[in-house]
Amino acid sequence: MSLLEVEAINSFYGDSHILFDVSLHVEQNEVVALLGRNGAGKTTTLRTIMGVLAPASGGIKLDGKSIERLPPYVIAGMGMQLVPEERAIFGALTVEENLRLAALTAPKAWTLERIYAVFPRLAERRASGGRALSGGEQQMLAIARALIRDARIILLDEPFEGLAPLIVRDLVRVSRELAQQGRTIVIVEQNVVAALSFADRVYVLNNGHVVWTGTADALRADPALMKTHLGV
Ligand code: ATP
Repeated sequence: MSLLEVEAINSFYGDSHILFDVSLHVEQNEVVALLGRNGAGKTTTLRTIMGVLAPASGGIKLDGKSIERLPPYVIAGMGMQLVPEERAIFGALTVEENLRLAALTAPKAWTLERIYAVFPRLAERRASGGRALSGGEQQMLAIARALIRDARIILLDEPFEGLAPLIVRDLVRVSRELAQQGRTIVIVEQNVVAALSFADRVYVLNNGHVVWTGTADALRADPALMKTHLGV
């Protein structure tokens, strides 16, 4: 049994059919990347998995339990967290307040010390307001809020978008360490090179269909495949 199993989901926004029989599975400890051009349906897939959007048909199982009709807060309580593209941190609260708030309703929260050991930069910025943070710091805080809730599986939506290469490298290193420590990660990224540098397996989406799946190594080794599906 996989940790996460998505079976032939179809999702709509109103009358627009966005996902067509999308199936995928994610094993414990795996880093899985969802890649594809703009509008391919990657964010919609994450939103459907997290219960933000209910699929019209198909099934989603977390630890073998059906979750496709559950609201996001219940799914979060089962150990899955979505880190949305817009990061959604509270600008009027400090770094530490953002973290404490996230921990408040978690069944098993990490200590602040443990979070600061993963992100020393956040310790330095603990009293700064969310609004005063750089893009990279905001992204660290967004990931830290998922971690403090002891998420076993983290869905990252374009975590590297708009960040300088040095910051991306730092976040890739942290993400890789988290994976090595047993967290499971599903990442959606336009920065294909960064995503492939730490993903184990890949699903390529195009127009709401899974058009390719395989190992990150196989995709990296095949420039023609990269060009056809990802335009890189
Ligand atoms: P991007 O990298 O641009 O975010 P994506 O692969 O994540 O791309 P989605 O955001 O899942 O793609 O969008 C898939 C399709 O659904 C697109 O055609 C988009 O225009 C449409 N779409 C996304 N959000 C909505 C919405 N709230 N209402 C209607 N259509 C939407």
